[in-house]
Parts: sequence; C-alpha cells; structure tokens
Amino acid sequence: MSIENINVALIGNPNTGKTSVFNQLTGLKQQVGNYPGITVEKKLGFCKLTNTIKANILDLPGTYSLNASSIDENVVIELLLNKNDKLFPDVAVVITDIENFKRNLLLFTQIKDLEIPTILVINMADRMKPKGISLNITHLEEELKTKIVLVSTRKGYGIDDLKNQIVAYKSLSTEPCMNASSIDEEYFNKLRHAFPNQLLYKLWLVITQDVNFLNLERNEIRNSFTKSHSDLKRLQQKETIKRYQFINDTLKIGQTIDATNATDLRSKLDKVLTHKIFGYAIFFGILLLIFQSIFDWSSIPMDFIDATFADLANFVKTHLPAGELTNLISEGIIPGIGGIVIFIPQIAFLFLFISVLEESGYMSRVVFLMDKIMRRYGLSGKSVVPLISGTACAIPAIMSARNIENWKERLITILVTPFITCSARLPVYAILISLIIPNKRLLGFFSLQGATLMILYLLGFGMAIFSAYILNKILKVKTKSYFVVEMPNYKLPLLKNVAINVIEKTKSFVFGAGKIILAISVILWFLGSHSPNTSFKNAEKIVIDNAKSEGRNLNKGEIGNLTSTYKLENSYIGIIGKSIEPAIKPLGYDWKIGIAVITSFAAREVFVGTLATIYSVGNNNDDTTIKSKMQADVRADGTKIFNFASGVSLLLFYAFAMQCASTLAVTKKETNTWKWPMVQLIFMSGFAYITALIAYQFLK
Ligand code: GDP
Ligand code: MG
Repeated sequence: MSIENINVALIGNPNTGKTSVFNQLTGLKQQVGNYPGITVEKKLGFCKLTNTIKANILDLPGTYSLNASSIDENVVIELLLNKNDKLFPDVAVVITDIENFKRNLLLFTQIKDLEIPTILVINMADRMKPKGISLNITHLEEELKTKIVLVSTRKGYGIDDLKNQIVAYKSLSTEPCMNASSIDEEYFNKLRHAFPNQLLYKLWLVITQDVNFLNLERNEIRNSFTKSHSDLKRLQQKETIKRYQFINDTLKIGQTIDATNATDLRSKLDKVLTHKIFGYAIFFGILLLIFQSIFDWSSIPMDFIDATFADLANFVKTHLPAGELTNLISEGIIPGIGGIVIFIPQIAFLFLFISVLEESGYMSRVVFLMDKIMRRYGLSGKSVVPLISGTACAIPAIMSARNIENWKERLITILVTPFITCSARLPVYAILISLIIPNKRLLGFFSLQGATLMILYLLGFGMAIFSAYILNKILKVKTKSYFVVEMPNYKLPLLKNVAINVIEKTKSFVFGAGKIILAISVILWFLGSHSPNTSFKNAEKIVIDNAKSEGRNLNKGEIGNLTSTYKLENSYIGIIGKSIEPAIKPLGYDWKIGIAVITSFAAREVFVGTLATIYSVGNNNDDTTIKSKMQADVRADGTKIFNFASGVSLLLFYAFAMQCASTLAVTKKETNTWKWPMVQLIFMSGFAYITALIAYQFLK
C-alpha cells in the first residue's frame, strides 16, 4: 500500500496558538531548522493521519498580513507563492484566536484568495463562553467559503476534527472568499489583461512585495505597471479597508458578542472602564491625577533648568571677553538651548504616563469610550490624549498624536491642539486678568477673576472642537477609517518598553523640533540686540545723559534697566514693533505691546518679561511693579493703555493666536512639511486678530 505524503502549513497571527496546535498534531515528532539564508526558525513535524496519509506539518512564523514588512512575513509569502517548494502546502490551516477574531480574519481572507485548500481554525474556543461570544458557524462557512474547526488546545478538543478535515483535503474549497479585483477594479482589469492566465491576487503580491515569482520576472511585471511607491502603499491601504469591510459585513451575522454574558475578570473590568458613567468618571479622575503630577513634578526640574541656563549664560558673559560672539553664546544660543531643554520634563512625564496607560491596556478602553463623541468632530478617540495634554503644553501633545493611525484624524488633531490653553498662556492671562477684572467675588465665594480664567479655558477648548469640525468638512484628505478596536489583555507595564518610549519621544523632540527652536531663538536674539542706528552702541551713555539733563542721578541698577529698555526700543524688534503700530492700533495696542507680541512669538510667557524690560522694571520679575507701571501707562489722549477693552482684546489674542514658534516647529516635524504649520499660523493668528479687533471696537 503506498503512503501519501501531504504538506500542511499552519498560518496565523502571532499568539493565536499555532505552536500549540502544532504540538498537539505532531507530539514529539518535530524537527527544527532554519529557513535557507535567514535566521527565522522553521519547525517541521510529522503526523500520521490515517494508515495511508502522512502529513508534514509546518509551523510558520506569526504574521499579521501578507503585506510583508518583516522577514518573518516574507517567509510565509515566499512559501505560498512558490508551487515548486517541496513544502508548498496541500492544505493551508489558518489559525485564529476567538478573542481577536476580526483582526485575525484579515490574514485569512488574503490566504483564501491564493486559492489553496484552506481550513479555518478558531482556537481558544474555551474562551467563548466566558467572553459571551457566540458564532453562527453555518453563516461563516458560507461567507468565508471554508471549513471551520473550533479548537481549544488548552481544553484539548477540536484536534481530531481538524485531522479529519485535513484528511479530506481534496474536497476543501479553493474558491476565494473575496473578489480581489474589488480592491481597485481599474488596476486589476489591467492586470487581468496583461496576464490572463495568472491568479490576480498572486500577481498583486508579486507587484507589492519583495518576493520572487517563479515563471515571471518580478521586474517585468512591475515595470509594466509603473506605479510609484506611494501609489502602491495607497493600493495596499485600499486592500486592507476592503477586506475589513468584507469582514465586518460577515461578522455582523456571523458573530455575536454579548458583554453582559461575559464572566471573566477582564470582561468585568472592561464593563466598568467603558461604562457610560463610571468609564468617564474614572478616566477624568486619572487625567486629573496625571496633570496634577505633570505640573507639580515637572515644575521642579523646569525651575532647575531655568536657573542653570541663566547661571550658565551669566558665567559665559562674565568670563569670556566681551563682544559679539560672547553675546551670541550667552544671549542667543544658551537661552535657545535652554528653551528646548525646558520642555523635556513635561514631555518625559507625559509620555511616561501615556506609555504606562497604553502598556497596561487601559488606553484602548479610553479610546473605545471616547471614540463615538470625538468622531462627530472629525477626531478620533485617540485625540483625547493630545487635546488634554495640550493644557500642559502643545509640544508633547502634538507628538502624542502619533498614535492616531488615520492620517486625516491625526492631522486635524495636530492642527487644533494649539488652541487648548497651555501653561505658557497662564502668566499672560494672570497679569492681564489682574489688571482688568476687579478682584471681587460673586455671591460671596465665586471669584470673578477665576471665572474669567475658566471662560478662557473653555474658549480654547471650544475653538479646538469647532475648528476640528470645520476642518473635517473642508479637508480633502482621502483616508477611510476602519476602526478595529483591539482590546488587549490588561497587564503590568514593562519598565523597558516605557523607558524606551519616553527616551525615543524626548530624543525626537530635541533633535527634530529643537533645531528649529534654536534657530528662531538666535534670530530673535539678533533682532532684539541689533539696530540699524549707531546710537545703539552708546545706549548707556545716552541713558545717563538723558537722566542728567533731567537733573537725575541714576544708580547702577537703574542704568542697567534703562539701558536694556533703550536697546530693546531701538533694536530691529523695537523698530518692527513700532512700525506695526498702525496695524495693531485698532486692537487697542500701542508699540510697547507690539514689541511684546513680537518677542512672545518665541513663547507666550515672554510677553510679561518683555513688558517688564520695556517698563524697565528690572530682572527680579516683581509682578506688582510691572502691574502698577502697566496700570499707570496712558495714551496721548490720557486714556489708560490697559483698560477693559484693550485687556479683553489682548486676552482673546493670546487665546487664539499661534504665538509659539516651538509648536510650529513640532508641527513641521510631525507633518513633514511647512504647509501645515503655515496654515496654523495664518488661520490662528488671523482669527485672533479679527476677534481681538471686534472685541476692542465693541468695548472701547
Ligand atoms: P503562536 O504564537 O501562534 O505559536 O501561539 P502559541 O501556541 O505560542 O500560544 C500563544 C498563547 O496562547 C500561549 O500562552 C498559549 O498557552 C495560549 N493558548 C494556546 N491555545 C489556547 C487555547 O485553546 N485556549 C487558551 N485559553 N489559551 C491558549
Ligand atoms: Mg509559535
């Protein structure tokens, strides 16, 4: 009696239980080798199915899809495309995990399109009852055009059924379950025309992947379809979307998940964490905790960094010979680098928390929870993190938008995040509010100043949501979202993963956006400390002479302050500030505010420091003195510069304007073009100008 040898390949996503099935099928009859030329392990085992049929069972490396991105995945494709391989499968057994069934089916539909006899194993069937999952097997078998075997290697059932199906492999369907040409009719029609006798999906894989196809030269095929790399990527995305649409449709009838029937701990936790009320309450509780800590903890290193760089600048100034180079280092480069380093604590702390939440599995629940609400505004559930992180600083916030896979949603999130009231706006708000809003309490406890601050926060948040809504309508970015909620298991975060994430994000900020921030700081330094006027060099003498002519004697501190004031006023920035006065006059600002608006383009909080210099208050940042000077300042007609109308106008301006070079730098880094930061700058600052104008004209 002759013995028939057949090849069986076990294919599936990582961790679906391939090796477990393999072990059950082959017992100890295994042999481990390497795939030729590469270091991916190859496991071959043997199984005597009947007296006449022996199977070679191949345990392939885990792969998510046939759109290969790793060596492991290439191994699978190369085997499946190479009919002459002596291990080319007579039967492909695709192993899926019932808990990740939807995601696992993507690979199945691809394998199925290769028209090899296929069996679909749904493993971990023991998890169905505790998860409240039930399946309509008849429907699934019909739609997917396959035999389905329910297996639990843990409980040990289903393996015999699988063996029987393999034995009957000749009667298995080889029909594809999805029409590959529906990915892109036009493209596939061309393919069909050029290669009438080839399997379309195989051709597609040859074109899109780095694999060789026996009879045909890969380049020959590719060249006749000269598609650019980005076109191919788009087609691959289209494929994924089409396949998920098909899978979603199939599962609508094929699978029911009734969470209320679920009984395990994970499901119970899920129920609480994604609950309509408790879910939000817990999430906002956690957020509160996180942002409290970000503010509290990062203020310590931030103060330290601030002081250190100030000391360093001072040291350089006093120890290097006076001159242009020393000034460049001590006033341009060192503060510029300081302006980059100062963000590191916030970035590091934010990503520390985000990675812990992600690693633990909690973040997926939040995304699931928020997705419905956010989607209405063109955002994603994952936009919650950037939007809320924006209250600390837009820089780490924009970086955290990287988690959003859908490009349009990510772009909208990046564009609107700077509207959120960040901590750099606080000193500006604080001084302006204290100037124009009386320190009174409503109903005895409700602080008017506090209420104003709250309104400003709400304005920022409202503007972010509103612009997202608008952008969603007008942005013509073609990406369809297929939302696969992956609910990973809860687990303790791995310290190593968390640390790597934090370090990587920090590095990418420092070496990406950092360069632009440094450049802008140096440019602003140059403009602030240089002047076309020759009198600039004699600033100190002029200040002293002026005082003398008024019959005053200045002490050393006063000379210093007045000299810086004189210099700032006569520098390029001062000149620009003065020359923009006609443009900002309708907003209620004078040239002093003009200068402060320009310098605070580096960072909003610089506004206060610049006004302090202009009013020559000195470096001790004594708020009360700046305040009283600002309060006393009057226009030519005797009205106060900082009155209610101009104050509100300024508050609105700082609420909406893109007054932050670092944010622009990060947006450039994250979107890889200057287009989007320019859109932000023009739209936000334009909008700020108009609202400030309207407010002042109404209130004055
Ligand atoms: P592979 O990566 O596809 O080779 O998957 P493994 O065979 O290594 O299994 C991954 C994990 O799933 C292991 O922790 C197994 O113990 C577990 N596992 C495998 N089969 C079952 C099953 O039938 N039920 C349950 N509950 N767990 C299983
Ligand atoms: Mg394995």
